[in-house]
Amino acid sequence: MHFEVPESTAAFEQEVDALFADPETRRLRRTARSRADHMDGDVRDLYRHLGRAGVLAPSWPSRYGGRDADFTATVVLLERMVSHGIPQSLYYISVQIVGSLILQAGTEEQKRSLLPRLASGDLTACILFTEPEHGSDLASVTTRAIPASDGSGWVVEGRKTYNLKSAYADVALCAVRTDSGNSRYEGITLFLVPLDTPGVSVRPLPSLADEQFHDIRFSQVRVGKDAVFGAVGAGWSLITRMFAAERNGLDYYVRARYWLERAADRLVADGRRPTGSELAGLARHQARLDASRLLTCRALQSLHEGESDIAQASLAKWHCSETAQGIAWWAFETLGPELLEPEPGTDDPVLEAAYREAPGMTISGGASEVLLDIVAGARLLDDTRTGG
Ligand SMILES: Cc1cc2nc3c(=O)[nH]c(=O)nc-3n(C[C@H](O)[C@H](O)[C@H](O)COP(=O)(O)OP(=O)(O)OC[C@H]3O[C@@H](n4cnc5c(N)ncnc54)[C@H](O)[C@@H]3O)c2cc1C
Repeated sequence: MHFEVPESTAAFEQEVDALFADPETRRLRRTARSRADHMDGDVRDLYRHLGRAGVLAPSWPSRYGGRDADFTATVVLLERMVSHGIPQSLYYISVQIVGSLILQAGTEEQKRSLLPRLASGDLTACILFTEPEHGSDLASVTTRAIPASDGSGWVVEGRKTYNLKSAYADVALCAVRTDSGNSRYEGITLFLVPLDTPGVSVRPLPSLADEQFHDIRFSQVRVGKDAVFGAVGAGWSLITRMFAAERNGLDYYVRARYWLERAADRLVADGRRPTGSELAGLARHQARLDASRLLTCRALQSLHEGESDIAQASLAKWHCSETAQGIAWWAFETLGPELLEPEPGTDDPVLEAAYREAPGMTISGGASEVLLDIVAGARLLDDTRTGG
């Protein structure tokens, strides 16, 4: 399988490289990363700078702040962000996950009001699905919303946890129970809740990786009727669509690629000669990375063509995250304590941070066992249909 990269994407790559290397981008990147506690800093000024240059949502229609480019422009953008050291998480959640869902399933009014602001970096979003007792089993959410007694909207009550970027997000996409429904999959509604609404509290939780988790409490939080995303009670089908957008593996593949490049540089640094087994490991991981890119591109292409497939996406996310984790751990085994040293020419210990980030990669955005369950279920269904 081969994905054609149009000439327009090559031109976009050059434009992005020039923008990421410009002095203002580098200044804003340094400022965003310079927190004394080494946790993730506030990247919103940097995103606004990039958003003003119009590069953040290349694959969206231009009427919503995009460039009408195909999905390969998104792949190139993420590859370049990571290799220029631009933190990508808040961007990825805001534009590529929440924004993609709005693009697919939002009303025309939501698309016109939210997408251009996401694309310009003026609006950021996080996802509040997981609760203290429910992660993979999302149909069990207990955070509730009941209609406000004055008919003005809804009152939300409950708790969400282990989410990233809530400290820097303006709005949260929340899965909330609005009705007990006939089955666990009914009665769930998605809300877009502004995080500065009275009654919302955001508390950081420590994490092994550089990015903090958060614990969010909703205490009698009043939101308007327009906070509902999609129809009331129709949240489950939207969550499934969002998973198809989230689980394309791109965010994992780009980090894996960068980590393997950095590890390869270290293996030959200062005239060092890699051993045969080191070279074999490098080749093995490169092959897995090539497969990751193909699976990611296939899932993104389907999404771009409006034919998203949750099993195809789950396979991509599973493969990319397992590959990334394998590369981070192989780098540690191969380089040993040298991994703790900052990258030559920078003060950035990329591979050490990767080692701490790796365990969460096969849990976030769908744990590996759950993704394999979805892939196997879809395969069995196909075999039943074809009589295999
Ligand atoms: C880095 C990171 C970032 C995250 N960011 C967010 C975020 O932004 N927003 C958010 O809402 N959440 C976020 N999460 C939470 C994440 O979505 C959940 O941790 C994940 O869904 C797993 O849920 P859980 O922790 O409750 O584990 P559980 O669901 O209890 O799973 C525990 C173990 O059981 C296995 N398991 C569960 N169900 C099955 C099954 N049916 N079959 C086989 N095995 C199963 C799992 O694979 C896992 O190994 C993040 C997590 C991490 C690590």
